[in-house]
Amino acid sequence: MPTGAARSRILKTAKIKITTKCNRSCDFCIFADGAQGENMPQEMFSTVLDRLDTIPFQQLHINGGEPTVHRAFPELSRLARTRLPDKVMVLGTNAITLARNHRLMDTTLECYDQVLIGCDDEHGNYEQVHATVPILRAAGKTVVVNSVLEGISDHRLSQLADLCAAYGAIHVTNHVHHIDVGQPPNDLGGLCARYLDQHLMVELDGSCYRCFNAMAKDDSEFNIYDSDFAAKVFAPRCAHYRFCGKCHEYTDSGSPVIPLRVPESATAA
Ligand code: SF4
Ligand code: SF4
Repeated sequence: MPTGAARSRILKTAKIKITTKCNRSCDFCIFADGAQGENMPQEMFSTVLDRLDTIPFQQLHINGGEPTVHRAFPELSRLARTRLPDKVMVLGTNAITLARNHRLMDTTLECYDQVLIGCDDEHGNYEQVHATVPILRAAGKTVVVNSVLEGISDHRLSQLADLCAAYGAIHVTNHVHHIDVGQPPNDLGGLCARYLDQHLMVELDGSCYRCFNAMAKDDSEFNIYDSDFAAKVFAPRCAHYRFCGKCHEYTDSGSPVIPLRVPESATAA
């Protein structure tokens, strides 16, 4: 159970990246390493669940890479559902395997409350998304389809919007996150509003980021194995991540951060 100062605060999401393997290789992706990626071992996943059980949070996101290509996806999903029964379980997927593998779809229907699906030209999964959204919605799952605006035509966008409207799914659009695609650097001031009691992302090696989209191999603040892990989740922050300077989602919360600026040369993830 949470202790001390953490008791009065609560995270919106904890996100576990269970694999860096993926069955796609989207140009804008910094999270996956194709077939060369690695899976989180089951023992490690169990340890992460133990540690997460010491902090207050609302939603458990299972992500990758493509989490359904982890060979133990069904076992991991059931373990999380059983161990953290009061959490909203959310799966982030490209839906490609769900469309063709009944066992993985059944696991998803059994274990998850919400399914977030990336869908655009890079994902190349229009057919699979059109096949899976009706099944997920018929089972009462919340479904959010997310398209990156830099990677989809107006025609495809309106087709997805129609699909979501027909089946009661939610269609959202987004920009590529914290990747240098020619945009000017952010004028970084105070802490990103998304720093504050919102997200914790746990990487394959247990390194932790207090940001939903963050990733840089040497920029983690702490690790899931730290003895004071629960305190660190809610500890005051003192710096921006290196990639915040190029992130479309930066919003100045007004809370101070030292140093005030990240070097421009260090802003790309
Ligand atoms: S499907 Fe998702 S995880 Fe896989 S390469 Fe594309 S954006 Fe990355
Ligand atoms: S600016 Fe972007 S990468 Fe940085 S903390 Fe905010 S959402 Fe995360």
